[in-house]
Amino acid sequence: MAIIGGGIIGICAAALLSEAGRSVTVFDRTGICEETSSGNAAAFAFSDVLPLAHKGMIRQLPKWLADPLGPLAIPPAYLPKLLPWLIRFWRAGAAKHYETSLATQAGMMKLAEAEWMSLLDRSGTRPMLREEGSLEFYESEAEFRASLPGWAERQRFGIGFRHIEGEEMAALQPGLSPRFVKGTFVPGWKTVADPKLLGKAVWAYAEKLGARFEHARVERVEAGADGATIVLADGTRRTASKLVIAAGAWSHLLAKNLGDRIPLETERGYNTTLPSSAFAVKRQLIFSGHGFVITPLQTGLRVGGAVELGGIDRPPNFARSKAMLEKAKRFLPGLDPSGGREWMGYRPSLPDSLPVIGAARAPNVYYAFGHGHLGLTQSAATGRLIRDLVLGQTPPLDLTPFRPQRF
Ligand SMILES: Cc1cc2nc3c(=O)[nH]c(=O)nc-3n(C[C@H](O)[C@H](O)[C@H](O)COP(=O)(O)OP(=O)(O)OC[C@H]3O[C@@H](n4cnc5c(N)ncnc54)[C@H](O)[C@@H]3O)c2cc1C
Repeated sequence: MAIIGGGIIGICAAALLSEAGRSVTVFDRTGICEETSSGNAAAFAFSDVLPLAHKGMIRQLPKWLADPLGPLAIPPAYLPKLLPWLIRFWRAGAAKHYETSLATQAGMMKLAEAEWMSLLDRSGTRPMLREEGSLEFYESEAEFRASLPGWAERQRFGIGFRHIEGEEMAALQPGLSPRFVKGTFVPGWKTVADPKLLGKAVWAYAEKLGARFEHARVERVEAGADGATIVLADGTRRTASKLVIAAGAWSHLLAKNLGDRIPLETERGYNTTLPSSAFAVKRQLIFSGHGFVITPLQTGLRVGGAVELGGIDRPPNFARSKAMLEKAKRFLPGLDPSGGREWMGYRPSLPDSLPVIGAARAPNVYYAFGHGHLGLTQSAATGRLIRDLVLGQTPPLDLTPFRPQRF
């Protein structure tokens, strides 16, 4: 069988299917874990259950959009193309959809944590796990109070946290600017040593179990009762008994070949990875009001985030990485911002903040994409769900909310 996409979703699906004895070939035009999955913020954000589209967030939109280098940007020329997605996003924030999304996301996160902890052990990658928790900061009492309903929602789903200030906050992250008056510590928040290294290590495990890689761009896919055909950019064809499309922000282009129109957009994100010596950051630091995080990695200190709804074709605007780095320097006054490497990635995002996991309209094809901000976090669970679908086993979650045909 075949998987298109060697990002973290394709890698985890390959690992779990190989464990189940399936003979798997992964096709990717770049390599294994070389694109969006390579440079993200490294969080296993199992407690991040709140859907992106919600009233509080939508209220912030005008303020964020007013700043061209702020947490959210929409290039004006892209707005007409984006509009249908934005309308769906807006609708997903309605109270009745929101509650369903929240419960679905919470169920998915339980599975995500269980599946990753188990896959880390099976693949020998547990030493890459960092269990240091996260710290989120507020610049005023008003900002802190505005965050409380969200924390109450998380509490409903059993997520542990502690609001902090003063000496305790200073001890959890020394050197922080006094502009931050309060914080929230989430002890269960986890990160990984480096998302690219983890992806490659899980792939090495899949390879040991027999998974193979073919370096090629897929031009088109076809499917029928006997299986799927993959047409490569050089015109040659490959056949597979079953096909999984896990091509990140480009997946909808292949799904269209099969008659499925899926409103996948991309939330482009930016960061800069500094040398580890830039600052002693003790755990992931989250500046929600500014839309970015700082993550200490084995390979450096990563500063970034932000959302740019700008599609897959326009060139990166690295002024956005620079703007976040300048803010980071203000927030951690001792930070040395020199010697960094800038990066942009394409979060594959659906308007209801849930991925597409399920069977295509065409036979023998499955979709696994659209994980938005949470692809690393939910990749092992997605691998598990795809494995169950391919093997015809009952998955541990109701997959109705993830159906490709829900739009
Ligand atoms: C700034 C930023 C920070 C983030 N932080 C986090 C975080 O802390 N935690 C978290 O859980 N998530 C995070 N994410 C989200 C996460 O990185 C993504 O959800 C995840 O990487 C998506 O994985 P994927 O495998 O679906 O896509 P990708 O990693 O993009 O992989 C898709 C692959 O498909 C290949 N491909 C596409 N089309 C074709 C084709 N036609 N032929 C051949 N190959 C093809 C591409 O080359 C690519 O390698 C972040 C994202 C960004 C941008």
